[in-house]
Amino acid sequence: MARYGYNVMSKVADVIENGNWNWPEDWRNVYPVLFQLPSMNLSNTPDQILWQNSEGKIVPFASKDVWNTIRIRDQQKDWSKFVWSAFNIPKHAFLCWLILKRKLWTQDRILQWNRKVHGSMNQMCCLLCYADLETHDHLFFQCSYSEKVWRIVRSKVGMTMVNEKWDDIVEWLIPRAKSRAIRMVASRLIVAAAAYAIWSERNARFFFFLGKGLPR
Ligand SMILES: [Zn+2]
Repeated sequence: MARYGYNVMSKVADVIENGNWNWPEDWRNVYPVLFQLPSMNLSNTPDQILWQNSEGKIVPFASKDVWNTIRIRDQQKDWSKFVWSAFNIPKHAFLCWLILKRKLWTQDRILQWNRKVHGSMNQMCCLLCYADLETHDHLFFQCSYSEKVWRIVRSKVGMTMVNEKWDDIVEWLIPRAKSRAIRMVASRLIVAAAAYAIWSERNARFFFFLGKGLPR
């Protein structure tokens, strides 16, 4: 391009002369398509970056529109308002999302992966209670350690009647997920914070052989 006087700042107007394209003759064989472009008249209005959206309309460019055009859409999950509430602490919300998708690397998932890759099935157990296999349902909050945490925190936000099963807790939260009442906001925060604390304790024991001991 530089050989013909163009650079990255060159504009369309630089290759149009009297309404006709004025491409370097050497490009005729290399880029024949350029010579087939229809002629055009340029206006004096400032340049704009435009985008043809999914409805075929030419609209001002926005990366948000591009993302909405190319992304795969799915049904909104009924728990989304509980997880992605504006009041939630982002790192707690992200962990809740992983739990709901059953995507944490709990030992049952590690074992499955290990069996596929190495063909082995080493015995492992929950590092919080040493009594059962570590799964999502076990950690949140059916493990004896986690259950103790849950029983302490649930009474502080009016969830005393909600048992220690994650699915039951989520079922209780979903119809209240849009509420801005202080107790409902607190209930969402405390479930997410309790899950985060348990996962942190598990990781401290799993990776660093550390731990804070049983909750009081
Ligand atoms: Zn356990």
